[in-house]
Amino acid sequence: MCKVISVSNNKGGVAKTTTACNLGIGLARMGKRVLVVDADPQGNLTTCMGVEEPDDLEYTLSDVMGKIMNDEIIDPHEGIIRNEEGVDLMPGNIDLSGLEISLISVMVGRETILKEYIDMVREDYDYILIDCMPSLGLLTVNALAAADSVLIPMQAAYLSAKGLKQLVKAVTRVQKLNPGLSYEGILITMVDERTNYAKEIMKLLDEGYAKDIRIFAVRIPSSVRASEISALGISIYQHDPHGKIATAYQSLTEEVLAS
Ligand code: ADP
Ligand code: MG
Repeated sequence: MCKVISVSNNKGGVAKTTTACNLGIGLARMGKRVLVVDADPQGNLTTCMGVEEPDDLEYTLSDVMGKIMNDEIIDPHEGIIRNEEGVDLMPGNIDLSGLEISLISVMVGRETILKEYIDMVREDYDYILIDCMPSLGLLTVNALAAADSVLIPMQAAYLSAKGLKQLVKAVTRVQKLNPGLSYEGILITMVDERTNYAKEIMKLLDEGYAKDIRIFAVRIPSSVRASEISALGISIYQHDPHGKIATAYQSLTEEVLAS
């Protein structure tokens, strides 16, 4: 049985991509068959997975979705890149922004184009992680409509807790389309041990959301080690295997596996 997890937050810079990358590779290291899907026109996940110039790729998620949109037959395995650390990547790049605009004019089913693709490949994997862009536009709606659960990375600051309300609203709306969509959990990221933000945000989350949404026990600390990996195209397990970020993402992997 495959589980499809959408890594989403309408706010940027909260470690969605870093989490998709290191949770994906974490799961692969535990022997799971993993596909990560880059659904952000910025192509950051594609870079994290070792592709130096995502915008130069010939065939990406945008082509896949474009073909499905036009009722063309696709080979669901075309375009998948095998990453050196054992996960499969469906890359994304700037072409996705044009694709998102053309989705608007699709008469029927514009929210479920990505789901059609995911359903074609899901039997090949144990986990599929979709890295979303920082907005609640059609691409993100497509990711939520294709997913079994949504994992929400959140920075430990008050403002991002406000943004969470909009995301929860969007999830509630998408659940009408995809009743199976549940919450994987909220992941607190970039925790700076010198500030009290984390405490404040935990209190806020406990009061507002904890009864409906699991908050992962592990929190990802802030560290320059984490920020170094995106450009290197390797995971934290390679870059700093014994550091606190690798340990934290390993714990996250175990929490996801246990659920
Ligand atoms: P998003 O996908 O939500 O926009 P990213 O994963 O790209 O977020 O992270 C935003 C920036 O923060 C990147 O430069 C990334 O390298 C950095 N970063 C991610 N996780 C951490 C962390 N735990 N500590 C410090 N910097 C981090
Ligand atoms: Mg990102």
